[in-house]
Amino acid sequence: MVPSGLGWCMDYGAQLNYGIGEGKPGMVDNTEQEPGEPPAQKLYLSLLQTRKERRSRWIRWLGALSLSLVVLPVLWLLITGGATYLNASSASRTISPVATGSTSLGATPAITAAGSFLSSGPLPLTATPLNLLPKPAGTISASAQLPLYGRRIGLDPGHGPRGDAGAVLTDPDTGKLILSEDDFNLDVALRTRDLLRARGAAVVLTREAADTFTAPWPADANGDGIVGASGDDLQERVDILNNFKAEVFLSIHANGGDPSVVERQDVQVVYCGDSDCNFAEQSKQLGHLVSDQLDSKLADAGYTPDGAGLVTDLNTDSSVPPQHLFLLGPVNPPRHVRATAMPGVLAESLYVSSPEQAAQLNKESVRQAIALAYADALQAFLTGTGGN
Ligand SMILES: [Zn+2]
Repeated sequence: MVPSGLGWCMDYGAQLNYGIGEGKPGMVDNTEQEPGEPPAQKLYLSLLQTRKERRSRWIRWLGALSLSLVVLPVLWLLITGGATYLNASSASRTISPVATGSTSLGATPAITAAGSFLSSGPLPLTATPLNLLPKPAGTISASAQLPLYGRRIGLDPGHGPRGDAGAVLTDPDTGKLILSEDDFNLDVALRTRDLLRARGAAVVLTREAADTFTAPWPADANGDGIVGASGDDLQERVDILNNFKAEVFLSIHANGGDPSVVERQDVQVVYCGDSDCNFAEQSKQLGHLVSDQLDSKLADAGYTPDGAGLVTDLNTDSSVPPQHLFLLGPVNPPRHVRATAMPGVLAESLYVSSPEQAAQLNKESVRQAIALAYADALQAFLTGTGGN
C-alpha cells in the first residue's frame, strides 16, 4: 500500500499505522478482496476503513491546528517582545531591564542602531533582529560597572574671579610670571575632572574659566546688597556644590608664603574638624586619603615631599580667635549664609612661592600625578576602599 500524498512529517501517525498494521490480523487492506469473503463483512470492513480514514484525517488536521496555535504565538511574542524592549530603551533612555536600571544613560550606538532599524518598518522573519537583542544590555552593563558610576563629585579650583591670582611666583630679575596659583588650580581641577568622569562619576566644577564661575557671575550670592564681593565669590562656590548635590567636594589649591618660616609641611590638607562642623569625621577620613595619595603620587612622579599632613582649618587661620575656612566651615552671617552640605577638604599641594617646588608644579607629569592622587582619594572615599 502506498501512503497518502501527505508529506512524511504531517502524516507521521498515519504512516506508522500503515507500516505496523500491514498483513497482520485485524488490519485490512481494502484494495484486495479475499476469495469467498461474504459481501456483508466486506461492506462492514469497508465502512470501518472509511471511518478510520476520516478519524485519521481529523487527527492530522487537529495536529496541524494545535501546532499552529503553539508555534506562531511563541514566534510572535519573541519578535514583538524584543521590539517593545528596544523601542522603550530608545525612546526614554531608561534602562529598566538591567538590575541597576534606575539611572538614565545616553543612547548607546547599539541601542540607536536597533531602534532606528525597528522604526523603519516591521521586522522581517529572520534571525538577524533577534541576534541584536543581547547587545544593548551588554553595552549598558559595561557603563554601570565603572567604579564611580552614578556618583556625584564637586571640584573647586581655588581663586580666579575678581582678579584673585592666589599665590604667585615671579622672576626677581625680570619680573616675569613663573607660576600663578589660580592657573595651576584650574589645570589640575580639569585633569581631575577628566579622570573622575572616565570612571563614571558626574563632576561639577565651581569654575571652568580664569575669571568667572559656572553659575551666573558677578552676583550678590549672599544677599547683602553688594555684588561680586569676596563673600559672594566664596558663597557662589558653596552654592554651586550644593545645587549640584555633590556627595563630596575637593577644593584645589597650592600653598603660598615662606615654607621655611611658616611651620607647614609641603603637602597640607585642611578640614573642618570641630564640634560645630557638619561632616567632621567624614572630612577627616577624606583628608587622610588625599594627604596619603598626594605624598605617594608625588614621590612616584619624582619629587618626595617634605611632610604631608592633615590639619584642622582653625590651625591655618591667624585671626584671633581663629575662624573656619569659608568653604569648609558652618555658616557665619552676614557674608556666609549657606554652608557646604557635604563632606570635603581643601588641599595644598606644594608651594608656589618656592622656586624649587614651583618648578615641580609647572611639570605636566607632576600636575597629572596630583590629579591622579585626587581622583584616587575621592574614589577610595566614595567606594570605601581605603582610609584610616
Ligand atoms: Zn589658594
